[in-house]
Amino acid sequence: AAKGDGRGVYRFYSSDMHADAEDRRQLEEDLRDALASDALHLVYQPVVSSVTEQITGYEALLRWQHPRRGMIAPDIFIPIAEDTGLIAQIGDWVIRTACRDAAQWVETTRVAVNVSPIQFANPGFPSTVMNALATSQLAPGRLELEITESVFLSDNADTDAMFARLKALGVRLALDDFGTGYSSLGYLKKAPFDKIKIDQSFVRGAAIKGNRNSAIIKAIVSLAEALGMDTTAEGAETHDELELIRQLGCSHVQGYVYGRPIGAAEVLERQLNAGTLATVEGFKSS
Ligand code: C2E
Ligand code: MG
Ligand code: MG
Ligand code: MG
Repeated sequence: AAKGDGRGVYRFYSSDMHADAEDRRQLEEDLRDALASDALHLVYQPVVSSVTEQITGYEALLRWQHPRRGMIAPDIFIPIAEDTGLIAQIGDWVIRTACRDAAQWVETTRVAVNVSPIQFANPGFPSTVMNALATSQLAPGRLELEITESVFLSDNADTDAMFARLKALGVRLALDDFGTGYSSLGYLKKAPFDKIKIDQSFVRGAAIKGNRNSAIIKAIVSLAEALGMDTTAEGAETHDELELIRQLGCSHVQGYVYGRPIGAAEVLERQLNAGTLATVEGFKSS
C-alpha cells in the first residue's frame, strides 16, 4: 500500500454523492476485480489512551483505489459489497491483512477491524478469525472486532452464540458507532463487549459551550464504567474536544487531532523511530 494515502483524497467520490443505478452497476463490476487486482488496501488510525497519550492500537480502515475514479470511500462501496455478497471475501481479506500487519508491530499494540453484520451472521466467521490469527501468529488479545448495533436487529440465539464463540477465541469485542443505531440498551446486559465506541456525532461540537453532547458522552462513560467496559471517543478533531473527552473520563480517543490514517509501513516506521507516544512531533502535523 502507498504511503500516507489515508488523506482526504476521496472527497471527489464520497458518501454525500448519490450513486445512480448505472454508476452502481459499474461499481459492482469493478469491485469484483478490485480484490484480484490489489486495488484494496488498509490504512490505520491510531487509538490513543486519554491518560497516557500512548497509542494502544490502530483501527484498520478499508480503501479502494479505483483505476479511473480515484479513491472511493468505504461508505460507498461497503453497502455494495454487502448487497452483492462480496463482503464475505473482502471481509476475510481485511481480517487476514490486518492480523498480518499487526503481527509486525510492537506487542503492546492492538489492531481493530470493522465487521459487517453480514459477516457476523455467517456461522463460518469464527473459523475465519481463528485462521487469520493462526496464520499471522497474532495473539488473540491483540485483535479487536468492531461490531455495530445493527447485529441486534435479528436478536436471537444465533447472535448470542456468535458472541460466545468469538469471546472463546480470546479476541476483544467493541460496540462501534454507539448511540446512532436502533437498539435498546438491553443487549449491553448480555453481549460481552470490552469497549464502547462513542460515535463522532456526539463528539463533534461537544466542546462548544451549551452543547448537550457532553452530557450524553458523560452518561455513556458512566454506563460503560459500571459495566467494566472501556470507551473510545471517535472523531476528535480539535484540542478542545480532546481536552473535554479527557475530562469526561473516556479511556481512549481517536480522531484527526492525531493526524490522518496511515499505511502499515508507516506505522512500523513510526514505532521504530518514535515508539508509541501519540504526541511525538510528526503525528499531529500530518
Ligand atoms: P467507523 O468504523 O466508525 O470508522 C470511523 C470513520 O471516521 C472512518 O471513516 C475514519 O476515517 C473517520 N474519522 C476518524 N477520525 C475522524 C475525525 O476526527 N473527523 C472525521 N470527520 N472523521 C474521522 P472511513 O475510513 O471513511 O470509514 C467509514 C466507515 O466505513 C467506518 O466507520 C466503517 O463503518 C466502514 N468501514 C471501514 N473499513 C471497513 C472494513 O474493513 N470493513 C467494514 N465492514 N466496514 C468498514
Ligand atoms: Mg470502526
Ligand atoms: Mg465508528
Ligand atoms: Mg461508522
